[in-house]
Parts: sequence; structure tokens; C-alpha cells
Amino acid sequence: MRIANLSGRAVLLGQTMALDIATASHGKFGPEPRSVWAQWTDFSAWADGIDVDSNDGSVYFDEAHLGAPSPLPSQIFAVGLNYADHAAESDMVLPENPIVFTKFPSSLTGPHATVRLSGDRVDWEAELVVVIGTGGRGIPESAGWSAVAGLTVGQDISDRTVQSWGAPSAQFALGKSFEGYGPTGPAVVTIDEIREGHDVDALGVLSYIADGDGELRLLQEGNTRNMIFSVPVLVSRLSAIVELRPGDLIFTGTPKGVGLGRKPPVFLKDGQRLTTTIEGVGTIRQVLRA
Ligand code: ZN
Repeated sequence: MRIANLSGRAVLLGQTMALDIATASHGKFGPEPRSVWAQWTDFSAWADGIDVDSNDGSVYFDEAHLGAPSPLPSQIFAVGLNYADHAAESDMVLPENPIVFTKFPSSLTGPHATVRLSGDRVDWEAELVVVIGTGGRGIPESAGWSAVAGLTVGQDISDRTVQSWGAPSAQFALGKSFEGYGPTGPAVVTIDEIREGHDVDALGVLSYIADGDGELRLLQEGNTRNMIFSVPVLVSRLSAIVELRPGDLIFTGTPKGVGLGRKPPVFLKDGQRLTTTIEGVGTIRQVLRA
């Protein structure tokens, strides 16, 4: 199943239609997206098997009205250097432990938002984003996937100037938390749905850029099978320290091909369109403005 935020209300998405969860469940779940994550076990049992496209209560929807599927998470975790090829282009050694920072929740936006660039050294990072379902503490790696509600697409947009304040120590949290620097969506796709057509541990990660109306140029082409710390390992390692709560997000890191790693470096410009795709999960598109 695919769960989204349509104009601030939790919906189930079909191929072309959306079903309002609060209306269809007679108020048991929704309307706020967060109520779905907070009642994940009951909700997923209720929603399982609903055919959205043939449901009498479904309506056609405009993708432009989709918001962040988990817009008010209690925590956002983001993982640095989680792909060996990205660590290499960053001239960094492979981490022995996950390198974890946050993007503040006020940086989140929907899948088709316009993003205002904070400077002339703003970079892209295509990322698989985990949305926590039941969560908890002390989750073993073997139960990692069962703590997760589903997956969505994210961009960890990064102001490299602010990020390097105080170098060699880094300022990741602020440099990655400007308004709109955490676009997510278009929907949270549940693990069982992804598994119908894909290996959930080996999903393609792609990003593209275009100037104005020009053609898309490939920026990044990676695969989550090359993560140093897989999703179940991240869930286990994080939950050994902090409680993972329903609706929390984990930005799982980016493969090689970011602008800072190029010689010379390349950064986002006014008028460009940034497209990010995760195989089996979806695509988000941002327009960038100076
Ligand atoms: Zn990142």
C-alpha cells in the first residue's frame, strides 16, 4: 500500500486515485498523517486489501497537492558516508560506526516543492528515507524491517558552506536544515508492496538535473545494496541508543555523484530542476530558486 499526505490529510494512493483515510475509516484513523504512524499496527491491518482505484470513496488527485508523508516526525536521523563510493569521493575513510546527524523537521517539504537556495554552494544528495512504524528500543537487526512502516524518497539538500563552518568539525544539522532542504514523498510505500516487484535490500537510487526546460542529465546512479549500514542495521544500531518512534525518518545516506565530489565542484543553480528516484518507491521533483 501507498500512504500519502494530500493537502494535509492522510490518504491511501492507488494508481490514479486517492482515498481519504479519515472518511473511509469513519474517523478511526487520520485525518492528520501522523495518526497513521502512531496506530501503525491497527491501521495497516485495516488498510490491507483496500483497492483504492475501485473504491466508491476515492477521488482523482493532483500530485502537486501532496505534502511530506510524515510532516511532523519527533526525530529525523540522517546518515553520513553510508556508501563506500561516496566516502571515497569525499576523501573520507569508511566509518566503523554509523555517522548520524539530524535535519530539523522544519526543513521538511513535499515531493514537488520549490526550494530556495541559501547560497552558491548548495548540493544534492539522493537518499532512500525510512519511515518508522512501530519502532521501539533495542530492536535486533533480524527485526529491523518489521519496525519500519515503509520507504519514501528524499533529498538531503546541503549548504556546503554552512556545513563546513568550524571545519574540520562539521555543522551538518544547520547546513542541511534550511527551509525546504528535506523534500520527501510522494508516498510511503510499505515493505510488502515493494517486495512484490523488488528486492527491498537492493533498490536503485538515481538523481538528475535539468536547466530550465532542458533535458535531464544523470547526477547519481547508486543502489542501496551498497550501503555500508543496511536499513535493518541502522534500525538496530540507532534503537540501541534512542527510542525510534512512529513517523520518525531515517535519511539513509547518498551514493557517489554529489556536486562537492566533482573536480571542479558543481552546485545547484537558479531555475534548475532536480529529480530524484528510488526504484519501486517513487520520484520527487524540485525546482530551485536563487
Ligand atoms: Zn545525506
